[in-house]
Amino acid sequence: MKQEFEDSVEKYIPKPRSKFLKVKCPKCGNVQIVFSHASRIVQCHVCGEDLAVPTGGKAKILGEVQEVLE
Ligand SMILES: [Zn+2]
Repeated sequence: MKQEFEDSVEKYIPKPRSKFLKVKCPKCGNVQIVFSHASRIVQCHVCGEDLAVPTGGKAKILGEVQEVLE
């Protein structure tokens, strides 16, 4: 019975799937690496445009995601 309980609990634990994303700045075209669960606003190194904003979980990506690095 104990094993059964543990199996059912595991299904409800969200597994963090943090990744690194290659994001292209919509303003200047600069491509930089952004953490998918960034806890702070990520700005373009070149022009200062916001590329990602924290939402409490997965960051909202404002630029164009070109590649996902796992
Ligand atoms: Zn930029």
